[in-house]
Amino acid sequence: MKIISKIFIAALFFIGNSAIGQTLPRSLAKINTEGFQKSQVMNLISDLSDVYGPRLTGTNQYYTAAEWAKKTLENWGVDKVYFENYCDDCMGWEVKSFNMEMTEPAYMKIQAYPYAWTESSNGVQTGELIWIKDYSDLDQVKKQWSGKLQGKTILIGTAPEQNMLFDPLSTRLTDEQIQAAEKSIVPTADTPLGPSIGDVDLIGNLDAIFDSFMRKDDAFFAFLKAEGAISILGTSPLFPGVIHPSGTYNFREGHVKSVPYFAISPENFGKLGRLTEREVHPKIKFQLDSELYLNPKNNVNIIGEITGSDPKLKDEVVMIGAHFDSWHSASGATDNGAGSAVMMEVMRIIKASGLKPKRTIRIALWGGEEQGYLGSMAYAENHFGKVKETARKKEVEKISAYINMDNGAGQMRGIYLQGNEAVRPVFEEMLAPYSYLDVNNLTIQNTNFTDHDVFDYYKIPGFQIIQDPLNYSTVTHHTNLDALEYVPERDMMINATVIAALVYQIAERDARLPREE
Ligand SMILES: [Zn+2]
Repeated sequence: MKIISKIFIAALFFIGNSAIGQTLPRSLAKINTEGFQKSQVMNLISDLSDVYGPRLTGTNQYYTAAEWAKKTLENWGVDKVYFENYCDDCMGWEVKSFNMEMTEPAYMKIQAYPYAWTESSNGVQTGELIWIKDYSDLDQVKKQWSGKLQGKTILIGTAPEQNMLFDPLSTRLTDEQIQAAEKSIVPTADTPLGPSIGDVDLIGNLDAIFDSFMRKDDAFFAFLKAEGAISILGTSPLFPGVIHPSGTYNFREGHVKSVPYFAISPENFGKLGRLTEREVHPKIKFQLDSELYLNPKNNVNIIGEITGSDPKLKDEVVMIGAHFDSWHSASGATDNGAGSAVMMEVMRIIKASGLKPKRTIRIALWGGEEQGYLGSMAYAENHFGKVKETARKKEVEKISAYINMDNGAGQMRGIYLQGNEAVRPVFEEMLAPYSYLDVNNLTIQNTNFTDHDVFDYYKIPGFQIIQDPLNYSTVTHHTNLDALEYVPERDMMINATVIAALVYQIAERDARLPREE
């Protein structure tokens, strides 16, 4: 953001202040002192990731973490804290133990992790490796491989290309990237700053869309099972050595992957592939002991409220949220322990500052986001109306705004306005006191693939925070390295404090946040 516009915004802020009243600057000072000097956010993320992670959908571990979050919010004096169930047929799945090795032509420990919701092995099993590179045409696969896969481990897909690691693993958004995003004039930019699928409406078609890319291999896997294959190995091009067992959509009863299925490191995949091509058929020894269960009580959103102080406005709600579930091969620290810890810390900061916001402030920690927004969708259907019907409940009108955080642990750099032009000057004014932290960059762009999408669909102003990417897409996102080591303290403190200030100001406004036309 250019200096000139920063001065202009600062001027706006002071004009705005006199209109709002004298209490605002003092309230923000209290928020800053609590958030910057008495921060608890790193304790929260350590609890969430080290102690209670991972938090895979459906698991007992998820529920234990949810109970911890509920108790923590209650201990801070958050007025109402409760669970809402979001799924009756989402299965829990846990690894008890596993092992993966190459025993011939030489010993090699294979860097591996099972994909979620795959069946256990039949004890320790050993078999020769077969490579099926292209399985896009199942008829062709059947023609080539029928009768040849009994007792075999199958390497699937092409090998990642070599990578000399010249590109930095971790980055912050550059001034050029920010400026380009600020200059967007339509929500669907040609080069979006964040994850975006353009104009496609995800909500209402979630199951079909997730099925189409996350269960596309089901028929191929069924063929491998029928042919007697004993395990499957895949990879992602995440160097160096990152394991990425991300994204299976087999969490409902009856959908489980019937062959033990592992993600392995790109380097191990490359070597196994090359050996196979040289007709040196590696032998793979492995074992997987996993547990599958259905315990619907585990499938809860965690909701907490600081009740508004203004008799007329307390029925209106400012919502904040983050998804609480994670993938399973690490602690779920950056996805999305970081977002959950920040939003919990927002509640603590507001409570501990002694402020009494006029509107109610409600936190929602969602379950099942990774399986297609299961938690936030169930919430919306319960409280706002069925997605496929046009009737909407009154509650839709009561939500002033929803602010979401789910792009890793990097610092807030601004807000995606999600096409809502009217809100631009409001956010400019509210974020102006924090321009020195460079958190106040606004883009009209929309971004997708997380829970604010749901609110946007119901025409509730729903926003996702712009964040520095750090090493989210290169190292931690859905991987075995999603750990607290990649959660920077300063970034987390800034995120919690600035969002607390933003949310407080939205709760104090005379009117709800402007809605899209
Ligand atoms: Zn996430």
